[in-house]
Amino acid sequence: MAMHRVALHGRHLLASSRLLRRHMSMEPQAAVTRLKESGLLKTQGLVGGKWIDSYDGKTIEVTNPATGDVLANVACMSGQETSDAISSAYNSFSSWSKLTASERSKFLRNWYDLIISHKEDLALLITLEQGKPLKEALGEVTYGANFIEFFAEEAKRIYGDIIPSTLADRRLLVLKQPVGVVGAITPWNFPLAMITRKVGPALASGCTVVVKPSEYTPLTALAAADLALQAGIPPGALNVVMGNASGIGDTLLQSSQVRKITFTGSTAVGKKLMAGSANTVKKLSLELGGNAPCIVFDDADIDVAVKGSLAAKFRNSGQTCVCANRILVQEGIYEKFANAFAKAVQNMQVGNGLAEGISQGPLINEAALTKVEKFINDATSKGANIILGGKRHSLGMTFYEPTVLGNVNNKMLIAREEVFGPVAPLLPFKTEEDAIHIANDTNAGLAAYIFTTSIPRSWRVSEALEYGLVGVNEGLISTEVAPFGGVKQSGLGREGSKYGIDEFLELKYVCMGNMKEA
Ligand code: ADP
Repeated sequence: MAMHRVALHGRHLLASSRLLRRHMSMEPQAAVTRLKESGLLKTQGLVGGKWIDSYDGKTIEVTNPATGDVLANVACMSGQETSDAISSAYNSFSSWSKLTASERSKFLRNWYDLIISHKEDLALLITLEQGKPLKEALGEVTYGANFIEFFAEEAKRIYGDIIPSTLADRRLLVLKQPVGVVGAITPWNFPLAMITRKVGPALASGCTVVVKPSEYTPLTALAAADLALQAGIPPGALNVVMGNASGIGDTLLQSSQVRKITFTGSTAVGKKLMAGSANTVKKLSLELGGNAPCIVFDDADIDVAVKGSLAAKFRNSGQTCVCANRILVQEGIYEKFANAFAKAVQNMQVGNGLAEGISQGPLINEAALTKVEKFINDATSKGANIILGGKRHSLGMTFYEPTVLGNVNNKMLIAREEVFGPVAPLLPFKTEEDAIHIANDTNAGLAAYIFTTSIPRSWRVSEALEYGLVGVNEGLISTEVAPFGGVKQSGLGREGSKYGIDEFLELKYVCMGNMKEA
């Protein structure tokens, strides 16, 4: 995504929403002074346990999407700092990986405790740099911390195997060992949780990490890294560099010391990272874009369906890869559902996430807003009708009215690609077979949701959906204890759960021969 909210090298790039900034802004940086522990506001990268500036002194502005205020100027790093971060991760690998699981687990548990005891500060940083309502940000901190706690526990359960041998004088063993240095590249929509769900299992398994957070939301990442240092996680085990995305990315890709890339973000960048990993044959985990169908059948409990699809659609103002992108509604319940759903959407409060009662914050940047407008124009030009919303919010900045579109079909752009905004397109359908066909008619395959009171149907449809996650009568299903990940072009690998740690482990087969009888 283009850097609409950041200024590189002190030069402002394309920030058209800045025109609105003046009349909405508070004093720059005023909001960050509300941190209880002011030391958590870090602006330097973390390399080998030291906070460092970029080598050429360049910085990036981090701004608040709700106001346009500049929150901080952080180091704008690139290849050289990344090389040093890789070296420090590589050097600390031998000692970190040799700790016992229980020792690593204690460090992670300390980190978890510190994240929880600083949850208000972390949530404040998330709301300020990302825009989501404070209550949702607090939810993200708990969700993000849970990955650290879960993998602190899971560190102790990395079991190998003993395989029954084909020969009497042999013993066959399987060891699980950490892959080595991991490059973790994360997006802006969950500034904390996307980091902890990568770094938690990586450190638990004995890997060391170089994290590259999004240039939009580095402050949360840096605060979390500071808490990791406070937790005693040794210097070099966790490094953070941010700034020039392709400079950092290319350095990670080209290094033969980096054995794995774990990435959450757009499908386009994921494909680049996959191609770029070929040369050094890195292990890859990719969590890419989705195009989640949310299917409401005639036999659904309407209250459950409205509540569930509302949550699946409007969390983080529609800016998650598991957000319902298409709401498929069976003809018999279409009118009733559309009315009830639009009424619920109308009740949502839009505004600065720091204010009470807000459920919809701003979009991340101007480009996100332009995309929403383009998708809505395309849909209405092809026969969709606007049931609610459909324009920029009177608050200005990057606020958009929560929108409901009727009579959408699968040919419209909004049904083909992720809108990543607060727009709920309703697609009428006739039969269960039609719904499955429409739902699977996409290259994406991350999350899907179904609403039905029929148990046989919930099984049939769950099994037929080509998706990595299915919510049945539930709109919010992500948890650290269950595997998260997509099929088709939505990605590779799984995060969270007992399966998530395997992504950071290699299997080693050891054959012990000549075990002669005494
Ligand atoms: P989004 O559209 O959600 O911002 P991106 O895929 O553009 O998704 O960004 C996700 C993460 O990938 C961010 O940290 C971003 O800086 C990073 N990124 C973008 N381009 C590259 C690249 N060429 N190499 C490595 N990382 C990149």
